[in-house]
Amino acid sequence: MKKYELMALPYAPEALEPVISAQTIAFHHGKHLQAYVDNLNKLLPGSEYENMALEEIVRKAPTGAVFNNAGQILNHEMYFAQFKPAGEAVQGPEGALAAQIEKQWGSVEAFKAEFEAKGVGLFGSGWVWLSADADGNLVITQEQGASNPVVKGLKPLLTFDVWEHAYYLDYQNRRAAHLSALWQIVDWRVIAARYDGGRMM
Ligand code: MN
Repeated sequence: MKKYELMALPYAPEALEPVISAQTIAFHHGKHLQAYVDNLNKLLPGSEYENMALEEIVRKAPTGAVFNNAGQILNHEMYFAQFKPAGEAVQGPEGALAAQIEKQWGSVEAFKAEFEAKGVGLFGSGWVWLSADADGNLVITQEQGASNPVVKGLKPLLTFDVWEHAYYLDYQNRRAAHLSALWQIVDWRVIAARYDGGRMM
């Protein structure tokens, strides 16, 4: 029995253009994420991880194939779920999350600048994340490969994928241009719901 299925995208493949092209979505969601799902479904049967929730697998599995494929499913599900077409996305943080960002960074623009810089500065493949600790304080982390902030006991809120497959078809080597464009399609309603303790996805 297949435990994991490829998540359905909450928008049409071309809905995020021109920030992310339909072609990139087709490869990133339809090929890369599908492969992680297929791989994990092959690895789980008979293993100690068979009946664990995805996040628990990521927290408990040692570095290796199970961790890599489970981590990439968790990362990509959170990544794709946080976007909306530019005209529909709530364009900035509100409420408690906005107040916390202003308290720690002084402004949303200063936060975005640090987040982008940490994405640009991550060497190789990985993810830049905004997460919350147990007290609600925010932290930006760089995660290598398939890792996720849950391994550090953090609650992940927002992420930019800096693997080349996320941007190379549309931006080639211009990772910084891709990251700065992504803000147009981040739906801050989703990020705020994660911060406020709602559904993590
Ligand atoms: Mn990716």
